[in-house]
Amino acid sequence: MNIYHMSYTEEFVGERMAMLSFKGCNFHCIGCIRKRSEYDIYADERRYIDWNFENMVKVLEELNPHRIYLGGHEPTLDPDLLNIVRRLSKLDAHIVLMTNGSLIDEEYAKELKDAGLNELIISVKAFDANKHLYYTNMSNEPVLNAIKNLAAIEDDYFRLQVETILLPGINDPWDIEELAIFISQISPAISLFIEPWIPIEEVEFEEPKKEDLIDAVSRAMKYLYVVSYHPLYSEIKEIRETPRKAKFIDILPRP
Ligand code: SF4
Repeated sequence: MNIYHMSYTEEFVGERMAMLSFKGCNFHCIGCIRKRSEYDIYADERRYIDWNFENMVKVLEELNPHRIYLGGHEPTLDPDLLNIVRRLSKLDAHIVLMTNGSLIDEEYAKELKDAGLNELIISVKAFDANKHLYYTNMSNEPVLNAIKNLAAIEDDYFRLQVETILLPGINDPWDIEELAIFISQISPAISLFIEPWIPIEEVEFEEPKKEDLIDAVSRAMKYLYVVSYHPLYSEIKEIRETPRKAKFIDILPRP
């Protein structure tokens, strides 16, 4: 079993959720988030348990999560993944696998689905083939093929989502637009989540700008029904330090 830590929250905007993190990855992303920390970068405190799967399941049973994410580095490298999904499926939670997509073919995805997986999120690090190769040291061809293949087995109980990073010079708003066109040709109903790259000391890239994030979302929305995004890391830090209220403006007919 490759799980090396787990994190959870009892109230993420009203939802209980847990993340099981698997070690090991076949990609070598220059800006890999795990270079920032091997553990949860948003965690406020730590708890310790005797490290075996049944003890993790006990924590999950106490938490009774709405969602369980399988992520970390790359979960599909774990030969025990099917058994882990099978056991977690007994917990009545929505189980989501986050993967770089390079090792998942249709047959394996069907096995995961039969084991009880509810959702698969494939992360596209860069749509441009050369930039993907530069950034990850791997081709994006199997990743893009996986999106095509797995869309075919999507149904009401098994959802496919594509995630991509926004990273200046590697995956810019216009690359994300090309990705959205590619996805829309498979199905415009596949949802896209845009994750701004999180800055890491000693890594050459800069944090994306908010206007580029919104530009990427607007471009992708021209082709796909559902496009969502994560705030910038700097925004989350700011929100956590100074709770702020969004300003809404109500427009009414002039009396
Ligand atoms: S695929 Fe994910 S875990 Fe693997 S190197 Fe890239 S960012 Fe890191």
